[in-house]
Amino acid sequence: MDKHSFAHKLKNEPIINSHAHHRPDFVHHGLDLEGVLRNSYVAWCGKLIPEDVSNKGAVDAWLKAVRSRSYFVWLEKSLMELYEIEQPLSANSWSIYDEAIINAHQDKTWHLNIQRKNCGYEAVVQDTYWNPGQDNGHPEIFKAAYRFNSFFYGYDFKAKDHNGLNIQIMHNRSITSIEEYVHFLSEVLHEAKVRGSVGLKCALAYDRSLHFPKASAKEAQKGMEKGASLDDIQKFQSYIFDHVCSEAARLNLPIQVHTGLGLMKQSGAIELQSLIERNPDTKFLLMHGSFPWVGDIAGLTHVYPNVWADICWLPIISTTAASNLLHQLIDVCDADRVIWGCDTHVSEESFGAKLAFLHVLSSVLQERIDAGLMHRDAAEEYAKAIMHDNAAKVFNL
Ligand SMILES: [Zn+2]
Repeated sequence: MDKHSFAHKLKNEPIINSHAHHRPDFVHHGLDLEGVLRNSYVAWCGKLIPEDVSNKGAVDAWLKAVRSRSYFVWLEKSLMELYEIEQPLSANSWSIYDEAIINAHQDKTWHLNIQRKNCGYEAVVQDTYWNPGQDNGHPEIFKAAYRFNSFFYGYDFKAKDHNGLNIQIMHNRSITSIEEYVHFLSEVLHEAKVRGSVGLKCALAYDRSLHFPKASAKEAQKGMEKGASLDDIQKFQSYIFDHVCSEAARLNLPIQVHTGLGLMKQSGAIELQSLIERNPDTKFLLMHGSFPWVGDIAGLTHVYPNVWADICWLPIISTTAASNLLHQLIDVCDADRVIWGCDTHVSEESFGAKLAFLHVLSSVLQERIDAGLMHRDAAEEYAKAIMHDNAAKVFNL
């Protein structure tokens, strides 16, 4: 069996998608080509889409700049396959893509059909950062991962995370004692679990460094007081993270942590080492392969059995880096601790992310079979585990 037939074999296997930000229904209902692009990474990581998409010269110049990026490559493949279009996207073919997308979304279930039929998702773990803990009204497919960034900003009523949230303001509290504050956070986490969350999500790499040295309750209290220094606030945040870790272990909820990109200031996964070491009963799902520091993840999974590698997003950030990391993970990490998710906002990009993932998975496994490093049966089992079984187990689905 060659690489193509391996990919073909995996094409219809069921998937549990570890991470998405799938937009609510109404956003999908109004999509056109511009809407799909504006809700995809190609539009907001680098060059912006021209304001006026009827300006052919500007559109072609934009396409020329972004066409080689992984984000664009997989999105274009997705659109060509979903909408059965043979011409590559250009200013001249723009209207063909545009009409196909607008027409398809006249069927209000089209975006969900892509998720189920084309992507083959049995379940999708959702991070609705605009309103943490939601399932978009489709609990049969979307399972919430509760984003707790706002917990780290409750030291002061004016502080906010990068989504503009502060847990005290969200719950109308005015707590000033650290003891009372952690008690309140425990209640919020318990509530999230009762309402159906299957995991917790931390995206602090967009707010601060991922280094969390141990801090005491006394030090954390200082972070809540008037005139607190940056150091006091960081100690408060370290203390809060340890508290969330112990509660997550108690509630049997894994913690997803965004690593790698973001502020790119101490955001490599290795920064989390002391936090991971102090919390051996907590399951850490380290996301995005810590790109560009992909070796961090491989090293951490080798040493700590409570670390999972979640390669969500990575195949569309850099297809090459994803293949490289997957080879390393097969070498050093148990086969039941690697998972994948699309990390996208609209179904069109989600399908592209799935194509990228299957490309990486099937080529890496085929290379290992050809090199005599893996038996064919073991490779097929490995694929099933990373596509479905590992996520089912760690999220208790
Ligand atoms: Zn994400």
